[in-house]
Amino acid sequence: MLLTISTTYPPATDLGYLLHKHPSRIQSFKLAFGQAHVYYPEAHAERCTAALLLDVDSVGLTRRPHGQFSENFALAQYVSDRPYVASSFLSVAIARVFSSALSGKCKEHPDLAETAIPLRAKLSILPCRGGEELLRRLFEPLGYIVEAERHALDAQFSDWGESRYFTVTLENTCRLSELLTHLYILMPVLDDEKHYWVDDAEIEKLSRRGNDWLAAHPEQESIVRRYLKHQQGLTRKALAQLREEDVQQTDEPIQQEAEAQVEERMGLNDVRLAAVTEVLKQCGAKRVLDLGCGEGKLLRRLLAEDQFEEIVGMDVSHRALKIARERLRHDRLPEKQKKRLRLFQGSLGYRDKRLVGYDAAVVVEVIEHLDLPRLSAFERVLFESACPRTVLLTTPNIEYNVKFENLQAGRFRHKDHRFEWTRDEFQSWATSISNRFGYTVMFHSIGPEHEDVGSPTQMAVFVREGREGKIT
Ligand code: SAH
Repeated sequence: MLLTISTTYPPATDLGYLLHKHPSRIQSFKLAFGQAHVYYPEAHAERCTAALLLDVDSVGLTRRPHGQFSENFALAQYVSDRPYVASSFLSVAIARVFSSALSGKCKEHPDLAETAIPLRAKLSILPCRGGEELLRRLFEPLGYIVEAERHALDAQFSDWGESRYFTVTLENTCRLSELLTHLYILMPVLDDEKHYWVDDAEIEKLSRRGNDWLAAHPEQESIVRRYLKHQQGLTRKALAQLREEDVQQTDEPIQQEAEAQVEERMGLNDVRLAAVTEVLKQCGAKRVLDLGCGEGKLLRRLLAEDQFEEIVGMDVSHRALKIARERLRHDRLPEKQKKRLRLFQGSLGYRDKRLVGYDAAVVVEVIEHLDLPRLSAFERVLFESACPRTVLLTTPNIEYNVKFENLQAGRFRHKDHRFEWTRDEFQSWATSISNRFGYTVMFHSIGPEHEDVGSPTQMAVFVREGREGKIT
């Protein structure tokens, strides 16, 4: 199974920097299912081609547990196509062998990694369930010029007709990381098969790697369905997340600006984050979640406190997480600090095993961004499934809005807020949650307190009454 990638972008040999593989060397990598070799059939300033040759160990495969073969019949282990075609094995090989290039990193030439360059990928052999038509429907919307040569099953048995196997070339002017990402996701989609079991982690992968292009892809549904091996539950969840994220991506920066403008005169954000940090310290938490962490302002404060040994930031928006990583200089943090902090994408609308087992979770100015009908899903995700010992949750107090000179009467503080609550509304919601899920709750005011309307931010602190976290 061979994948070649060529460019004519001068000097074309810089492809070696982008792939982190020197054009004059042959390199081999041992993988769980065989070996990968990288070499350059041509390397000139005008044109350079890198080849990834995947040598799948067919004997080894037959000894692996179930699920390695696309065909489930008695002779499958003798006539498997797996060693000879581009499949999820090749995706895994790309992620291993070209991991930096796949994530768009290039220390020597960071600008080049960010540049759209003419690229040509050739795959022999690519199995396409759905034929050339699907192949085109998947790659053409992403700007590729697609050439496909279909192979007959066997000349000797020509009446067996055409096979589903193609030699494919794909040409595009794009970043190398984009090309690799598209191949990584779409090869197993075309093959409609995967050599490993898929679970929630696969949704995360899909959403991370499909971040910029999948939400708008006309074949989004079939890509997600096939990528998740037709598991209905996972597919539904992934599609919903993509849609949610799409909404967040379009209007989030404007939202955060607008909110900051209304509240900034009193430096409310700083006051709020300081108050949250203080309560979190007092409750003795060591392992903490910041859910809807946004651009990471609270995470920065938490990192400065030695008490917090493990700090996790989660947000539905990839863009917010990217900014958080940059602001926190996550890549450049000293090793000890880096180990304390983890950021990942996820949605508070879905149960998530990654959130189970923490001492405390903070949810600062997030619930008012959730649609009211989805609030009950959030409640179960946090208080029933993740179930940390302590939960700190803040939200605007709508009664205080009359005190903001720069906010028109009757408006929410923020264009994306789906609701803002009075103190009574918030307290009765929080009390009913504490009763339902076995927590006690206390309320605090944050910001300048006004006799009639209270303070601008209201906080509930929930403490669990001795029940262990579990996922049901
Ligand atoms: N907690 C941060 C950010 C608040 S803005 C702070 O106080 O500064 C609200 C954040 O919630 C945004 O970053 C948004 O992307 C995130 N968010 C909205 N809906 C979400 C959901 N369903 N799951 C996780 N995060 C969500």
